[in-house]
Amino acid sequence: MTAARSQGTLAAALDHAMQRYCDRHPRSAERQAHAAKDLPGGSTRSAIYYTPFPLTWVEGRGNRLIDLDGNECLDFLGEYSAGLYGHSNEIIRAAIAKAANAGLALGGPNIYEGPLAAAIRERFPSVDLIRFTNSGTEANLMALVTVRALNPSRTRIMVFDGGYHGGVFHFRHGCSALNVPFDWLIAEYNDIEGTRRLLNANASSLCGVIVEPMLGGGCIPGTRAFLGMLREECSANAVPLIFDEVMTSRLSPSGLQGLLGLRPDLTTFGKYLGGGASFGAFGGRREIMERFDPGHASAFQHAGTFNNNVISMAAGLAGLTQVYSFDEAKRINALGDYLRSAINTIAAERELLIRATGVGSLIGLHFQSLHQTTAREDGRLKSQVREDALLQLETLFHLEMIDHGFFFGRRGYISLSLPTTTSDCDSFVAAVSSFFEEHKPSVEATLHHSQFV
Ligand code: PMP
Repeated sequence: MTAARSQGTLAAALDHAMQRYCDRHPRSAERQAHAAKDLPGGSTRSAIYYTPFPLTWVEGRGNRLIDLDGNECLDFLGEYSAGLYGHSNEIIRAAIAKAANAGLALGGPNIYEGPLAAAIRERFPSVDLIRFTNSGTEANLMALVTVRALNPSRTRIMVFDGGYHGGVFHFRHGCSALNVPFDWLIAEYNDIEGTRRLLNANASSLCGVIVEPMLGGGCIPGTRAFLGMLREECSANAVPLIFDEVMTSRLSPSGLQGLLGLRPDLTTFGKYLGGGASFGAFGGRREIMERFDPGHASAFQHAGTFNNNVISMAAGLAGLTQVYSFDEAKRINALGDYLRSAINTIAAERELLIRATGVGSLIGLHFQSLHQTTAREDGRLKSQVREDALLQLETLFHLEMIDHGFFFGRRGYISLSLPTTTSDCDSFVAAVSSFFEEHKPSVEATLHHSQFV
């Protein structure tokens, strides 16, 4: 197939899928147009926008979502990992109801925050003391200003290309215009020697290194060797190492740090740990965190009206102590491994140009060859014109999978929630397979033309 024909075929398939999507979701389209009069883009959160317009959800039961037009989808997005418990867990709903019935916004310590801190500490041995925030972004902001304040003569912070630590810490396509104006030193993820050199060359001006143990964008795991090197070099240079486990803390009973056997100086958390309500936390070594004790001789201030709001505290506590047991953590992550391997197996057997990456219950789907690429290769490939073709393929796949009743992130992001079953995963794989039955030639032609393979 020629390049022009392949693009023509893809464009025609995309037009068709868009049209069908618009026909099936008129009320979501209408809500979007209405809301856009008051909210830029019709929503208040960039990550949930996708073309031609996002679906408006009106109800969630277990791992099923119902949209405004009454269509049902199996939820494989899991609210970017905050929806681990599903949408209607009875234990969490009861905890929220009980807390709400006892009164909101009480303006003092409550009975939930201490036990929630203890439950998190019990799972993460690197955390001696912990503080709560309202979001993962805020947790990272607090962790970063803390390490800066510990050592005011050092102002640089090492981050990684492709990393994401919240809307104002966004390094996926260079440094976002809205990033907090810190003195960033951007290194390459999983590049052991390059990062070691950069870290050593800048050690005297570095106040901290922040890293996701798995890049959330694309679900690219950090290698043990890379993350271990960061631990070693940070210790050798007395630079605090921060693990952003906002997304990955669910990947074992003690997060990715537990799986990897590494102990960061500080860890940031968020997402499901609020039981489905807004949440963030930062914690770690006692010498650092005890500065937040108001009784400390040179105490740091850490404010936040809603840091201990009873809804997040009660829901988070119930979730961690009554729902996400060690066995459940193992089960859902094993299910993720099953889904990832099933997708990669059919891809290998039938030569489908898709591959699933990630760890446990967090999965990234990529249109590309089956051979493993490094983060650096991924970055180089994506930085070229081919990004457009890739986005078109991802859009077609996303719309077609929604049409089959499966919802996940436009860029191929999946996070499984606890109600997900093996049979849900099998039907997801069957839908991937039927997508390729229909579109294999145009996927191949587009990727070949774009030299992805
Ligand atoms: N860090 C990581 C690794 C994340 O994935 C996210 C959210 N996707 C954040 C930080 C920010 O968390 P929040 O959206 O709660 O501010």
